[in-house]
Amino acid sequence: MGKEVTLSGWVQKSRDLGGMTFVDVRDRYGITQLVFNMEQNTPLCEEARKLGREFVIQATGIVVERSSKNSARPTGEIEIEVSELKILNPSKVPPFTIEENTDGGDDLRMKFRYLDLRRLSLQNNIVFRSKLALETRNYLDSHGFVEIETPFLIKSTPEGARDFIVPSRLNRGEFYALPQSPQTFKQILMVAGMDKYFQIVKCFRDEDLRADRQPEFTQIDCEMSFVHIEDILQTFEGLTKHLFSRLLRVNLPEFPRMTYDEAMRRYGSDKPDLRFGMELQDFNHLAKGSGFVVFDQAEWIGAICVKGIAETYSNKDLKELTDWVQRPQIGARGLVYIKLQSDGSVRSTIGKFFNDDTLMYWGKSIGAEKGDILLILAGEKDKTIKQMGELRLEMARRLELVKEGDFKPLWVLDFPLLEWDEETGRFHAMHHPFTSPRKEDIPKLTSTDKEVLKSIRADAYDLVINGAEIGGGSIRIHDRQLQSRNFDLLGFSEKEAVDQFGFLLGAFEYGAPPHGGIAFGFDRLCAVMNGYSSIRDFIAFPKNNQGRDMMIDAPSQISPEQLKELGIKNVD
Ligand code: ASP
Repeated sequence: MGKEVTLSGWVQKSRDLGGMTFVDVRDRYGITQLVFNMEQNTPLCEEARKLGREFVIQATGIVVERSSKNSARPTGEIEIEVSELKILNPSKVPPFTIEENTDGGDDLRMKFRYLDLRRLSLQNNIVFRSKLALETRNYLDSHGFVEIETPFLIKSTPEGARDFIVPSRLNRGEFYALPQSPQTFKQILMVAGMDKYFQIVKCFRDEDLRADRQPEFTQIDCEMSFVHIEDILQTFEGLTKHLFSRLLRVNLPEFPRMTYDEAMRRYGSDKPDLRFGMELQDFNHLAKGSGFVVFDQAEWIGAICVKGIAETYSNKDLKELTDWVQRPQIGARGLVYIKLQSDGSVRSTIGKFFNDDTLMYWGKSIGAEKGDILLILAGEKDKTIKQMGELRLEMARRLELVKEGDFKPLWVLDFPLLEWDEETGRFHAMHHPFTSPRKEDIPKLTSTDKEVLKSIRADAYDLVINGAEIGGGSIRIHDRQLQSRNFDLLGFSEKEAVDQFGFLLGAFEYGAPPHGGIAFGFDRLCAVMNGYSSIRDFIAFPKNNQGRDMMIDAPSQISPEQLKELGIKNVD
């Protein structure tokens, strides 16, 4: 107080109370109240009255204590008695309010992203992102990693998506692909002896845009030589702990580890959210063969036990939940519930097929008590397990079981190497084609039996936090023969493999060290650390759900001259 200060910023709002005019000025550091006194300085006060929202101003004055304080604001105890005001630039009336609860819809805010970015929460998010990148660099640098840039104009890298392609003017009829990740380059860097590499890097994937996917996103991409899984898990568990401690002052305990099979069995997901229980229970041994046709015909019957809601969860709630599981995105045929009421009676969709004692016994066998509801799904095993996993997450959302600021990281290990794709009738790499099988499973690679091939485990791991996949990686194949066999299993002919990845196979013939790595989804990490569900809120200029940049209006058509220059003729 008592100091003369100069503040520059944007007019958040102004209130004219006759004798006094109050103006809130906003900059990157917050909002401060300016006060203009009609009696003390009439011309200045009149000038202040003309200020519209988002005018850019500079005000000089003395900091004084406020008579009516605003405890909701960090600067709420003071105001500036202005003696000098400059309008640096006027502004049109913005199309939406620049406030936390803005009245602007998504598309409008995307179009005027520079206005949306003026909101303090978005500014904080972007600053957080910058600090997270800095701390990542600090940690990795102190562990001997070198940041190395890899090219954007490359040849396809298979990460399971389509490539964005870029026509080459100098090589007519030929195309570059934008990297889906720097995967092959980082492996080549290991062959080149760079030993510990990282890069905070853009990746490009032309995917059908599901909610919260971006065609370009950022990874913390890493690779190390002469390592085993354990070295990688330790190093990157360390990085994660460092980031949480530095940015959030949260000290994470040692990360639990779980195999892929266990995660699927207990949570119906390979990225389980451990912030709440409600684990999947196998109901087969109880309900199969009980004479109820839906159960008898199902390959698998599973249940979750939802604690303490038998009395409060209404039939209407259950009806809504049934509709929810039957939505095509989930695809269950129906939902069976068993309410174990506190008075010992039972209410159930299958009440007419089974007596209360049986249902109560079933419930107790899987650990339910009076007051709980069992939710049961039945059908084909793999599908039903996933549906059950979705239902578990949905119940947690509906019952608001998640505490703010709770972080539950874990490693998921032992992923299958291959995934059978019914549509194409062939195997895909579950992680990517450079992932090494576990040593003890290597002999299985020569099998022609689909089931044996499906059972091959990979030296692959995911870092999961709060049900989101934050990172994924693997120990790589560094042996030319094994890599060829893997390409073969994935349906690449020898020629295709050499055409696409000859450079890597070639490099493997010149002393490739054993190596492995991981990539973190940087945008997702920002979002999860801040309890946001959308990565868009941490990307300065994101694309919308159709992959459009609404602000610059891209993608857009190019001129016939440009097309001609590129040698591209027919574009529909
Ligand atoms: N390139 C992989 C990915 O983008 C990560 C890795 O295996 O290191 O998921």
